[in-house]
Amino acid sequence: MPKTQTRQAKTYDAVIIGAGPAGVFAAAELVKRKKKVLIADKGKLICARKCPIVEGKVKECVNCSSCAIVSGWGGAGSASDGKLTLTTGFGGNLEEYIGRSELLSMIEYVDAVFVRFGADPHFYEASSETAHNTIRHGAQVGLRVLPARIRHIGTDASREVLDNMYKDLSTKCDIRMEARVEDILIEDGQAVGIRFEDGSEAVGRCVLAAPGREGASWLEKIIGKLKLPIASMPVDIGVRVEVPDSVCESLTREFYEVKCLYNTPTFDDRCRTFCMNPSGFVVHEYNQAHKLVTVNGHSLKNKKSSNTNFAILVSKNFTQPFSDPIGYATHVAKLANMLAGGGILAQRLADLKNGRRSTQSRIDRGMVGPTASAQPGDLSLVLPHRYVLDIVEFLDALNRIMPGVNHGDTLLYGVEIKLYSLRLELEKNLAVPSIKGLWMAGDGAGVSRGIIQAASSGVVAAHAICGEC
Ligand SMILES: Cc1cc2nc3c(=O)[nH]c(=O)nc-3n(C[C@H](O)[C@H](O)[C@H](O)COP(=O)(O)OP(=O)(O)OC[C@H]3O[C@@H](n4cnc5c(N)ncnc54)[C@H](O)[C@@H]3O)c2cc1C
Repeated sequence: MPKTQTRQAKTYDAVIIGAGPAGVFAAAELVKRKKKVLIADKGKLICARKCPIVEGKVKECVNCSSCAIVSGWGGAGSASDGKLTLTTGFGGNLEEYIGRSELLSMIEYVDAVFVRFGADPHFYEASSETAHNTIRHGAQVGLRVLPARIRHIGTDASREVLDNMYKDLSTKCDIRMEARVEDILIEDGQAVGIRFEDGSEAVGRCVLAAPGREGASWLEKIIGKLKLPIASMPVDIGVRVEVPDSVCESLTREFYEVKCLYNTPTFDDRCRTFCMNPSGFVVHEYNQAHKLVTVNGHSLKNKKSSNTNFAILVSKNFTQPFSDPIGYATHVAKLANMLAGGGILAQRLADLKNGRRSTQSRIDRGMVGPTASAQPGDLSLVLPHRYVLDIVEFLDALNRIMPGVNHGDTLLYGVEIKLYSLRLELEKNLAVPSIKGLWMAGDGAGVSRGIIQAASSGVVAAHAICGEC
């Protein structure tokens, strides 16, 4: 049946694609300045976002029409454990657009909004003496420790905060959930609205695309169609590490999250720790667009494990003629799914180093009781040798500040990938240079990699949009 093409009579000042932190914060800024706004998301409202696996109804992904983990009101942020990184230098590239001092004020502004809507006012920041000692010990083995100020909302509380924002915004702008956007409408070099999957259209003087990592492949197609220039394309692949809380607690008590950078001795590859979750849980992340399962982690405010998890990511920039970072990373992730019977793999560090697969009984005899269901296996059959060695060398260096992290029983889950790799060339205010009235923000456009910078990028775009309409 041909789709009906109905264009709504109402003209919005701004039409926003995606109700993640970037889209929601942009909408909040725009309505504050009395702009007429439509925000559209293919996912559901917070109360209807229920993953059948998380609810224990099924064991494997059943490919829901929209994934409750990464889609819907609040975006991927509402399923995340809401660790707000309140320091520049983490969680994205926004500094390159607006400069460090502007980013810092933006972070403070966005953070205050989160607190106003119910986020825990307490934040973590290591004392100068602890920070100094950790930095010094790290430096002795080539590890750069970057102290950050962190606010931890927690996955469950994070949903409440975002729901409070929905209640506030729903009285001030139009919101269309379960509405997948198919195309951005461009007429005479100017964005004029969006077309939904059902063929209906919404008209706007400006369009802000904030579809997150989940929408990165969709955005890639739009970018290709509009022939927009892409700036750079790194590939981030790694594993999630799980250790007993006792290995990290002297640091996590002070820092909450220990952020480290390391250039590996053998290949000189840049590795980093990412998303540390004290007393947390390793979780599956379902990527519908690519039909694969990867690893992530979170911690809850009201339910604790006795393990800490964090990711080790190896970041690589490939050279021409390579142009498909998403394809490369998903290919590696699919190998893990293939060996794990559709899920994720887990391996003890000692087994990885000794070139043998892990078995359930070896894991059961170990110190780390897994918090996620994963197939015991061999990550060296999935990750290129270079990545395996990078990870092993990084864990050896980390042992200097976290004694015990490179113990044989440490569990590695694979694989963790980040698909924020597509990065557009944008103006400083996040406008698309060649198309009037079109802005991009958040993880999908490669501007951010975390909640705070995604939300900040939405605010930056909204301020610029206000100047245009
Ligand atoms: C499990 C997990 C844990 C995380 N933990 C943290 C953390 O502790 N701290 C942190 O800072 N970050 C964390 N993150 C990352 C953080 O959630 C993201 O950086 C952030 O949500 C990005 O915001 P965004 O607005 O750019 O996109 P998203 O939050 O991804 O939102 C994009 C929205 O756009 C919608 N969309 C996509 N395509 C379309 C389309 N074609 N039509 C209509 N709608 C569309 C999607 O449904 C989605 O709701 C975590 C992510 C995950 C998955």
